[in-house]
Amino acid sequence: MEKQVTLKINNIPVTVPEGTTILEAARKAHIEIPTLCYLKDVSCVGSCRMCVVEATGARGLVAACVYPVAEGMEVRTNTEKCRQSRKMTLELLLSKHKKKCLSCERNHNCELQKLSLGYSVDEDRFKGEDYVLPIDDSAPYVVRDNDKCINCMRCVAACRNQNVNAIGPIGRGFHVHIGSAFDMPLSESVCVGCGQCVVACPVGALSERSTIDEVWSALANPAKKVLFFTAPSIRATLGEAFDLPVGTNVEGKMVAAIRRLGPAAVFNMDVTADLTIMEEASELINRIKTGKPMPMFTSCCPAWVKFVEQRYPEMIPHLSSCKSPQQMFGALLKSYWCEKNGIAPENVYTVSVIPCTAKKYECHRPEMEGDVDAAITTRELARMIKTAGIKFTELPDEEFDNPFSTATGGGAIFGATGGVMEAALRTAAHMMDGSFEVLDFFAVRGTNPYKEATYLVAGNALRVAVVSGLKNATELLEKIRSGEKHYDFIEVMACPGGCVNGGGQPTLSDSVRNTVELKDARAKALYSSDTLNALRRPSDSPVMDMIYNDYLGFPNSHKAHEILHTSYHADKRI
Ligand code: SF4
Ligand code: SF4
Ligand code: SF4
Repeated sequence: MEKQVTLKINNIPVTVPEGTTILEAARKAHIEIPTLCYLKDVSCVGSCRMCVVEATGARGLVAACVYPVAEGMEVRTNTEKCRQSRKMTLELLLSKHKKKCLSCERNHNCELQKLSLGYSVDEDRFKGEDYVLPIDDSAPYVVRDNDKCINCMRCVAACRNQNVNAIGPIGRGFHVHIGSAFDMPLSESVCVGCGQCVVACPVGALSERSTIDEVWSALANPAKKVLFFTAPSIRATLGEAFDLPVGTNVEGKMVAAIRRLGPAAVFNMDVTADLTIMEEASELINRIKTGKPMPMFTSCCPAWVKFVEQRYPEMIPHLSSCKSPQQMFGALLKSYWCEKNGIAPENVYTVSVIPCTAKKYECHRPEMEGDVDAAITTRELARMIKTAGIKFTELPDEEFDNPFSTATGGGAIFGATGGVMEAALRTAAHMMDGSFEVLDFFAVRGTNPYKEATYLVAGNALRVAVVSGLKNATELLEKIRSGEKHYDFIEVMACPGGCVNGGGQPTLSDSVRNTVELKDARAKALYSSDTLNALRRPSDSPVMDMIYNDYLGFPNSHKAHEILHTSYHADKRI
C-alpha cells in the first residue's frame, strides 16, 4: 500500500499519498491554488511562479505544482507574501503582453485576464521594451500572435507530448519567443495541425484560423445553398461554450441553433462516419483476402495522416484509402445530393463543424479541394451562435434534416478513441460472418491511450490496436517496424482521447481542466447515445441502403472509390 502523508493546508488537515504535490493536496482541502504554466496531463515545470505558497521546511516561497508534500508540513496558500508575489508576476507578464482584450477571442475566457482581475494588478506598472513580433498566419488552421504570448511553454509541452516538436523557444532574454525552428512559418514546419497547442494556451496567443466571415458571406448570398454538417463529437462539447456541464449531449439544441443561422439544411456527419465504416470494413476484408499491405491503419484523422506522410512514408500503403467522414460528406453533397436535387455543385456551399484544426487543413488538400468549402471548429460555431443572439440553452430540441439525419450508434462513437475501431469491428465481423452478432467490444473502449485485443471472426484471429496521441502512435509504429508487434487493423487518432479532445473544442478554464477528466466525460456522452440508439451497426442503417442503392452500388465499388477514397503522398520536409 502507498505510504500516506498527513499535512495541514491553511490549517485544514489533509492525508495524501507520499509524492503528491502541494497543488494536488490542496484540492483535497477544496483549495485552488492559481496556476499559469501548469496544465494537468500537459505541462508541469514550475516556471511561472503563480502557484507560489509558503511551506514549513522550505526556504522562501515554493512552486506548489512541483513541490512535494511532507509529513507534518504546514502550508499557507493565501498569505500577503504569496499574493504580492503573484501580483508582481502578473504585472511583469503584462509589461510585454499586447492588451487587446476587446477583440481577443479569449476575452472573458483568459487565464491571464481572470488572474489580473483577481489580484487587482496595475497593468501599466512596468513598461517593457517595445518588441513587436509578426503574427504567423501562414498555416490554414492555426494563427500565432506572439505579442499576446506569456512564454508559459504550455504549447511547447503539448507539441512535445505529441512527439512532433514543431515549436520551441527561440532567442534569448527579453527577446525569447515561441516559434518553429529558425523562425520559419508554421506552414513550412513539421506541424501536423492537431491544435493541441491551441487548447493548451491560457491566453489568446494561439487560435484557429477562423473562417467565420466566409461562412457569414455564404449565408447572406442568395445564389448559394449553404449546407451544414456536424461531426460526431460536437454534440458532446458545444454545450460547454454555453456553461452547460462537461459531457452534456446537446444534439437537439445544436441543430436548432444552426438552423437559426439560416442554412438550407443541417445534416448529421454521423452518417458519413457510418459510410466510412462501410468502406473501411470492406477494404479491410479485401486486404485480408488479397494479401494487400497489412496492418491497415484508419485514415479519418488528417493530423495522423500528415504525421505518416512526413515521418513514416513507408507506411503510406498501410493507410486506408478512405477519405475522412468530413471529406466524404462534402463529396457526397457535391455529387449525390446535388444530382438528386437538380442543383449545380457550384451553387452549393458546404460547411463542416469539426472538433479539429487539422480538418481545416484537410479540406485544402489538393486531392480533395472543393468537397468542403469551410470547416469551422466547435468554438467558431459557438461564436456564431452568440453573435446571432441565439439563446442556446432556451432552444427546443430539433432534428437533423433528411435525407442525412439517421445514423447508427457506431457513427456516434467515432468522436472518442476506440470508437472507429468498435464501429468497424461491428460491421467487418458481420460482413465476414453473417451470424456474428456481437455489438460491444469493451477491450477497445476507454481513454487508455494504447489498447489491443484479438477477436476470432469466421475462423480468423483479428488482431487490433487502438492508440491516441502521436507519441503513442510513434511507440506503436516502432514496435511494428522492429517486428515486436503484429496487428491486422489499427485505429490512430492524433489527439489524446480522440476528437472529443480535439484542438477545436471549447477552451475551458484551468480550474476545470485541472480537475475534470474532460476526455472521459465527453466520451461517455457519445457512448450513451450509442447505447440508446436502436441501430448500432453501420451496415444496419437505412441511410446506407439508400446511398448504395440509389447511387454508389456497393462498398468499394468503382463509383464509391471515385467519390469516397483518396491517395497520400510522402512529404519530405524532414
Ligand atoms: S498544431 Fe499540433 S503539431 Fe502543430 S504546433 Fe500545435 S501541437 Fe504541434
Ligand atoms: S503561445 Fe500560449 S501556450 Fe504557448 S507559450 Fe505563449 S502563452 Fe504559453
Ligand atoms: S483526433 Fe480528431 S480532432 Fe484530433 S486531429 Fe484527429 S481528427 Fe482532428
